[in-house]
Amino acid sequence: MEHTLPPLPYEYDELEPHIDKQTMMIHHTKHHQTYVDKLNAAIKTHTHCSHDILDQPVEQLLRHLHDIPDDIQNAVRNHGGGHANHTFFWNSMSPSPKQPDESLAVIKAIKSQYGSFDDFQRSFSDAAAAHFGSGWAWLVVNKEKQLHIYTTDNQDSPLMHGNKPIIGLDVWEHAYYLKHQNKRPAYIESFWNVLDWEKVNTHFQNAMR
Ligand code: MN
Repeated sequence: MEHTLPPLPYEYDELEPHIDKQTMMIHHTKHHQTYVDKLNAAIKTHTHCSHDILDQPVEQLLRHLHDIPDDIQNAVRNHGGGHANHTFFWNSMSPSPKQPDESLAVIKAIKSQYGSFDDFQRSFSDAAAAHFGSGWAWLVVNKEKQLHIYTTDNQDSPLMHGNKPIIGLDVWEHAYYLKHQNKRPAYIESFWNVLDWEKVNTHFQNAMR
């Protein structure tokens, strides 16, 4: 199957002033598009054989990375991960985000596990700020159905580890350098302003099924 760049669920300038239009345009049309193109190119080298595993949505490719033919496993990990991570990221943000209030199951779970919402938010922000080099910060539901904060290098996806992503934050410099330069913590603060907790809650409820 041919993988395609999904449209954003909002306009490029609609996350302003928190995330700027130019960053959104370059990030979506150049960076994300390149992951899609290179994933397709890797899979195309195997169209002569009948690998049913390769004819699956990108999330399935990442869940079963060890079944991917050796010579393209790393390309699927990097570019498939890039495609899945960015799709998840775009869809978690909104120009009119739902606030994190008590009506949401994910907020009840966060408070029960981290003590308070502020403690959770500080832990996530600290993990994102401390990650060395390019990567992602995640809140996941792990195999034990517990919430867990961790970071991954490069474009590695939590799906590779059997985890289900609930929140994902891109901490590659390309995600913030135009607006914030070296100030990653300022970008992390901006992200909280556009994260839509209705969508976070949906991810959580699906993960706990
Ligand atoms: Mn990115």
